[in-house]
Amino acid sequence: MFPYGVQLVTTNRSLPTPALPDTAKVDAFLAQTDAPTPFVVVDVDKVAERYESLTEAIPSARVYYAVKANPGAPILARLNDLGSAFDVASPAEVDMCLAAGAAPEHISYGNTIKKSRDIAYAFAVGVRRFTIDCVEELEKVAKVAGSDASVCVRLRHECGGADWPLSRKFGCDPYEVENLLVLAGELGMECGVSFHVGSQQRDLQAWSESLEVVALLMDRARRRGARPSFINLGGGFPGTYREGAPGIAEYGHAVRTALATWFPDSVGPDATMEVMVEPGRYMVADAGVLRSEVVLVSRRSPVDSERWVYLDCGKFHGLAETMDEAIRYRLRTPHDGTPTGPVAIAGPTCDSADVLYEKSAYELPLALAEGDMVDILSAGAYTTTYSSVGFNGFPALAEHFI
Ligand SMILES: *Cc1c(COP(=O)(O)O)cnc(C)c1O
Repeated sequence: MFPYGVQLVTTNRSLPTPALPDTAKVDAFLAQTDAPTPFVVVDVDKVAERYESLTEAIPSARVYYAVKANPGAPILARLNDLGSAFDVASPAEVDMCLAAGAAPEHISYGNTIKKSRDIAYAFAVGVRRFTIDCVEELEKVAKVAGSDASVCVRLRHECGGADWPLSRKFGCDPYEVENLLVLAGELGMECGVSFHVGSQQRDLQAWSESLEVVALLMDRARRRGARPSFINLGGGFPGTYREGAPGIAEYGHAVRTALATWFPDSVGPDATMEVMVEPGRYMVADAGVLRSEVVLVSRRSPVDSERWVYLDCGKFHGLAETMDEAIRYRLRTPHDGTPTGPVAIAGPTCDSADVLYEKSAYELPLALAEGDMVDILSAGAYTTTYSSVGFNGFPALAEHFI
């Protein structure tokens, strides 16, 4: 029996049960607060711990925190103090990083889809690195920044093994990456290659497979005159959800081995190849808990064994990653340890898409009732900014930092 009021249904039997994160500080806050629900509480010290663990796991890489995962000002300020750089997607995220004290040269504009005036804004405040995945976007960057730009060419990745894939919409084929590197070189720009193996990637080999391809296409681009000088390993490192994922030390081992194999020039004191890593989820997911309240527990008919549990937080108030039940959060209730039964779990709005889990075999205690608090664990990533501003009149998801 899994100790969080839910049944552990493992999709990949070879993966271990997750080592549960220590949430003592958040739990102490939750024990005494009467803040209105729903809200997320984030332990900023935990974010700092994650930064240290990741830099220890991949020492040759510079961390560019993917701001979209949680752009909370205390998070950005703490990471900036620790020496982190930042991956952003819009002028507003550029401004948030600058406000947190980040130097513009430590900001990478990683969105492959940018308005020309947004490129111009970022360039004007000192941002130099821009990600592209086609010649049209390269031309936009060249027009604004010319040879002062540093372009990162994004390789397409199929994202197999990831719970939240980032494929199809981004990246180009290896041969096109090669061409774009050559073109960037001809324009006098610094250049490199990025890929993203998909978010919540549970296959440790994903990085190695991509790095092998990147090493090959960089060689080919070099023979055509390009001088690629950096690789960007993207994100994909895990939060702790219902199904297991390897620990960060195992990710570190896999990535270090892949770098030593395919990019020996990126390792050690004489390294000439710069390495970037862009963690989002890993940095903040386990640092946060989302507290919600049970609004209603009902059954479709008296003979139905499945109950419907409606929370005051749903898909439109931060839990967007439950789309297709892709991210399966661990839940905690005041009745954990007592007998459970099957449930469908839904949000409070008048939209039938606002169902969190119907097919993932969740169980919750039979004693669960209106007014009980349900804590959604490891909810520090991709929640607060995914909340609508007032759908059905419900306020946006609140956030507290401790
Ligand atoms: C979202 C995103 C990330 C962060 O991914 P995680 O899986 O959350 O670590 C990194 N890089 C880019 C370009 C992204 O879009």
